[in-house]
Amino acid sequence: MSTIAAISTAPGMGGIGIVRMSGKDCFSVLEKIFAPKSKKIAPKGYTMQYGNIVDSNKNIIDEVIVSYFVEPKSYTTENMCEINSHGGNVVLKQILELVIKNGAKLAEPGEFTKRAFLNGRIDLSQAEAVIDVINAKTEIEAGTAEKQLEGYLSEKIKEIRDIGISLMSDIEASIDYPEYDVEEVTREKLEKELGLIKEKLEQLENSFESGKLIKEGIKTAIIGKPNAGKSSLLNAMLREDRAIVTEYAGTTRDTIEEYINLNGIPLKIIDTAGIRETDNEVEKIGIEKSRKAVKEADLIIAIFDGSKPLDNEDDEIINLIKDKTVIIVINKEDISKPNKDVLDRLNIGKTIINISALKKEGINEIYEEIAKMFETDKITNDSAFAITNLRHKNAIVNAKENVCKAIQTINDKMPIDVIAIQIKDVLESLGTITGESVTEDIIKDIFAKFCLGK
Ligand code: GDP
Repeated sequence: MSTIAAISTAPGMGGIGIVRMSGKDCFSVLEKIFAPKSKKIAPKGYTMQYGNIVDSNKNIIDEVIVSYFVEPKSYTTENMCEINSHGGNVVLKQILELVIKNGAKLAEPGEFTKRAFLNGRIDLSQAEAVIDVINAKTEIEAGTAEKQLEGYLSEKIKEIRDIGISLMSDIEASIDYPEYDVEEVTREKLEKELGLIKEKLEQLENSFESGKLIKEGIKTAIIGKPNAGKSSLLNAMLREDRAIVTEYAGTTRDTIEEYINLNGIPLKIIDTAGIRETDNEVEKIGIEKSRKAVKEADLIIAIFDGSKPLDNEDDEIINLIKDKTVIIVINKEDISKPNKDVLDRLNIGKTIINISALKKEGINEIYEEIAKMFETDKITNDSAFAITNLRHKNAIVNAKENVCKAIQTINDKMPIDVIAIQIKDVLESLGTITGESVTEDIIKDIFAKFCLGK
């Protein structure tokens, strides 16, 4: 494979920046631009050397430390080196240009990790965990991703696949040697073992419910008529140290996402278009926008101005949220307590919390209620066992369906070779998780989501 290079540290200024290279020729590319301070030595794994990066006219570009990794003991399993320079955009770009001029090729996003996968150091689920570790918004999410990176999911999948593979060989034996009358025994064993596979798959499938919340969070919409206090509530929530703002720059997702860390579960705030506009811009959150938000959200915080009588617009909102997972918030309790009519009309069997968004009173009660509603404690305790990736979940569901089909085939007393085909399908689905049976397109898709230099 060719030698690739990229800037691996985040853009912007920092104490240190790293240009990374991987490939058979990376040391010879380095040699052309690196002037070590002490005598030249043959690259040795896990060592570092101090010196300067110089251009073709021997002008010093920067003072650096280079770390060496000799195949197969590196991230990609290839020869690798990392040039630790000062963390300035210009210097890093100059160094990158130099290595490219001297024979390296610009790496694609995720190409280092892709090589680690293609070279067999990690499987596909571990490669996907790398991006999850990088993107993690909470400690719990990072912890779950680390577990997956360690190979936790791979192990589980392997356990299940091993059972499947051994069943396949039993079936083959009974097909190959029909005279030994092993078929009855095989059928019994098949039924038992397939039941076991199903159980294990179900455990994994069920863990996705928690996994999804850990990774994607609880999609939360704050709705209410203009001036009810939506922006004030959002600001009160975001101004706390629980707030996490992630920026996704780049071609695929150029958005800002705001989260609140609730006992390790991210509350993802759905931007109900315009709720953060300033007061003097006339802000119209029509009922249509609220309707859309209500549809998308896992949780709705419906906010009402308790210092005034409710009107038709409030009624429309009450109508929208009746059958939803909702916390009703009555705002502006610093001005006046809500009157009986307000309380009666809002009495639709949901939790009601009185707050003052302006004075930031009652915000913790909202958090406590959400934690209770979504059983966040339970989720965070279970997190070690959670799968968080929809692709994995779909593969597991697919595998489970084929296991069920195989069990049905046994019950229907169908020929044993039909079961073999169904078990093969199970193995195939599970292989897409770890990467044994996966198409080039899927691999491309997965690594396209990576950042450059990883
Ligand atoms: P939005 O239109 O629903 O986003 O409402 P805003 O958050 O912009 O608030 C509308 C007005 O109500 C602003 O002037 C806020 O300062 C005021 N406001 C919001 N919450 C409170 C509160 O708890 N108490 C009082 N007294 N005023 C509030």
